[in-house]
Amino acid sequence: MSTLFRIHGEFCTNHPWEVIVATFTIIACMLTIERQNPGFPIRTQKPCLDCHHGIDDNSADIIVMTIIRCLTVLYFYYQFRKLLSSKYVLGIAGLFTVFSSFVFTSAVLNILRIKTSDLKDALFFFLLLTDLPKAATLAKFALNAKNQNEMKNNIAKGLSVLGPTITLDAVVETLVIGVGTLSGVQRLEMLSWFACLSVLVNYVVFMTFYPACLSLILELSRWTNFYKARESLLNIAFKEEDHKSNPVVQRVKLIMSVGLLLVHAQSRWSFENNDVHIMRPLVQQSLNRTEELISPHELFLRWLTNSTNYIVLLVPLVILVIKVLFFQEKVESVKQIDKPMSKPKTPEVKSMPIFRFNDEPLFADKQIQTSNTDQVEGDFPPDEPISNLCRSLEDCLKVYNNIDLGATALSDDEVLLLIKNKHIAAYQVEKAVDDPERGVGIRRKLLERDLLVESPVLKDLPYKNYDYSKVMGACCENVIGYMPVPVGYAGPLLLDGKEFHIPMATTEGCLVASTNRGCRALRINGVNSSVVGDGMTRGPVVRFPSIVRASDAMKWMQDKENYVKIKQQFDSSSRFARLQRMTIKIAGRYLFVRFVATTGDAMGMNMISKGTEFSLKYVQQVFTDMEIMSLSGNFCTDKKSAAINWIEGRGKSVVCEAVVPGQIITDVLKTSVHALIDVNNSKNLIGSAVAGSIGGFNAHAANIVTAIFIATGQDPAQNVSSSNCMTLMEAWGPSGEDLYISCTMPSIEIGTIGGGTILPAQGACLDILGVKGANLSEPGANACQLAKIVCATVLAGELSLMSALTAGHLVKSHLRHNRSTTLLLQAFDRSKNMYLPPCKDNI
Ligand code: NAP
Repeated sequence: MSTLFRIHGEFCTNHPWEVIVATFTIIACMLTIERQNPGFPIRTQKPCLDCHHGIDDNSADIIVMTIIRCLTVLYFYYQFRKLLSSKYVLGIAGLFTVFSSFVFTSAVLNILRIKTSDLKDALFFFLLLTDLPKAATLAKFALNAKNQNEMKNNIAKGLSVLGPTITLDAVVETLVIGVGTLSGVQRLEMLSWFACLSVLVNYVVFMTFYPACLSLILELSRWTNFYKARESLLNIAFKEEDHKSNPVVQRVKLIMSVGLLLVHAQSRWSFENNDVHIMRPLVQQSLNRTEELISPHELFLRWLTNSTNYIVLLVPLVILVIKVLFFQEKVESVKQIDKPMSKPKTPEVKSMPIFRFNDEPLFADKQIQTSNTDQVEGDFPPDEPISNLCRSLEDCLKVYNNIDLGATALSDDEVLLLIKNKHIAAYQVEKAVDDPERGVGIRRKLLERDLLVESPVLKDLPYKNYDYSKVMGACCENVIGYMPVPVGYAGPLLLDGKEFHIPMATTEGCLVASTNRGCRALRINGVNSSVVGDGMTRGPVVRFPSIVRASDAMKWMQDKENYVKIKQQFDSSSRFARLQRMTIKIAGRYLFVRFVATTGDAMGMNMISKGTEFSLKYVQQVFTDMEIMSLSGNFCTDKKSAAINWIEGRGKSVVCEAVVPGQIITDVLKTSVHALIDVNNSKNLIGSAVAGSIGGFNAHAANIVTAIFIATGQDPAQNVSSSNCMTLMEAWGPSGEDLYISCTMPSIEIGTIGGGTILPAQGACLDILGVKGANLSEPGANACQLAKIVCATVLAGELSLMSALTAGHLVKSHLRHNRSTTLLLQAFDRSKNMYLPPCKDNI
């Protein structure tokens, strides 16, 4: 059976147009034929007008139908809710429902020849019996494919799995419901006919039009890069076994079908003969009756009874529609307002699970950071405005200014209204709503509105599950999310006899791999390191009325006794910042004072700025005509290329060395000692000198520095000076068969406390290196250790890249590891209106 259904499925997916056209043709034929033939012998329900108890009978009918309608609405709501997790499945299942409803309506009107007024009952019945989950299951089978061919295969496979069960179910359902058509109770008979037809239409559409259409839609969507996009949208864990039916149940159904068939065969023969006789008088009676006069009282009662029917149906329907439209909001909640004004209903805090194939909620991995909420950023519908619930500006202001309520009692749209009208500052929205994550969400909406875009442009920029409390007032302002950057690790790196695994955050392919190769080459002898200087700097610019006053001040500050007093002031500003020296330069009536201080485990820019300010205030007491132009006079020099940092050092000054056996150079690095030294001299020394470089006597120190800086929460802009490095290579050993390599980095601006190091993810990377936070026993030791790790990793990176350059491997490996194949396939030649084939070397 499965094979048959598979072949059928393959046919449908490979010839979708033919199947669709055939389906439409059959429907058209059906409609034409039925117009020429008399109606199907069904006894349609007419109000029992000649009967005095007409209203009572009608009431019973109304109650039954109302229950059925309510059940239908609830059932449909429930089914669609389950599908909400994927817009693709939802759309495809919706299409199935719409089309099969259309076929059903046509069939009911033309085959059963019922009145249009009875059609609504028929439709409710139909929808109740629509097997939406099965349609969704087949859609999921299809969507689980990675490409076009797999999609077709999957649909065929889906039909082979679902087909036998669905066929048997359709047979059993038709036979069971068919018993109702033998009951002799008019209303029940009619409903049973509806139900039987529903089952048949659903079955036929599911087996023909639906797989063909599914295949066609997905084939057409290949131009929209569908197969890539759906991966992030669906997250379906597909298990074919979950959908195979239980053989015992199947056998029971088969036996049941045979029994029921016998019942039908026996009963229907005698029943069909009487059918026309039963129907004729009934129709005649009702026709006669309609001609009689109906009293207004009776008319009103009838109207009321019928209206009750609609009212009972309408109430749950309206409630459900409101719930789906306005309260399906997946994210933020607005606290309920306990206040006698017109209140908006507030959305519940609700996390929307991504549904796995078996409909069990599956909470995706948290994207990043620490929050323990179960919310996930998955396949949610986009944040929808709840503008319909937005109150007037005056009402919102009243709530906002109410001490007990405040902005927490407003919906997002209402907060946005207050921001637009300048009652809440956009940068303070987190504070206003007293919820950082909600505040960030509101700011994203604000930005999207300002950008005037229809679809949410920020959907790929995550913002949930991030501990913003650590960010606010410390790391970033006007926050709209966080940037996930891939983090790899290189190592182990043997440094001063200890192994380290180095976290590196980068989007440059090859970098981690190359550094890792360097670490491998250094494993035998390891790297030795030493911190030779430690001093963060701040260099303010001050101005005097004349060069005489300026030079007086300079001499005064250089005096040892005065220096001690200035240092006292400086050191009093922090428990850890300690002034080491001051370098003073004069330029006309300007003085540039470079304060150099140790800053414990912190990188220290804030600390030293504070100390500098304290000191300058003290100097100003002596030189009252001293004008402090700027606390930073670029003599520091921070985040700009400057010879002073290269010469004098800034932050930690570190040197590292290693001896690499010649054998390793040949086996691991695929080059020779002589060639490496040769290229190092010509490139890193002569080449950089020719370029007039300051501190750039290296191959790519900035690569390693920046990747470690981002991973460990350093200030990434400080890679400017921190990457200053001179790489030296010499032949080593009695006959020069080994390589001696050293890296000198005089200005690594780094810390393990303060700044971005306080963020959990960055803290985790510091933890990997064993240098997280303050070193309690020896303040500053952690920061120095981290600086040594950076320098040693730079050495590993230099060794590997220089070897690749020497051996001529650079371009090849970059093309292999550092180029997205997506981009290669996306080169479009407009003139030829076609995609260019990738160059041979790129593949
Ligand atoms: P910080 O977070 O501003 O200050 C470090 C804090 O940690 C201080 O309060 C310090 O105490 C305390 N601390 C506790 N234990 C410590 C220990 N063992 N060693 C050192 N401090 C310890 O950090 P920062 O390094 O001074 O500044 C880093 C931030 O400055 C980064 O966000 C960076 O982006 C930014 N930055 C600022 C400027 C600027 O011009 N201001 C320039 C570039 C970068 P105390 O209070 O006793 O000192």
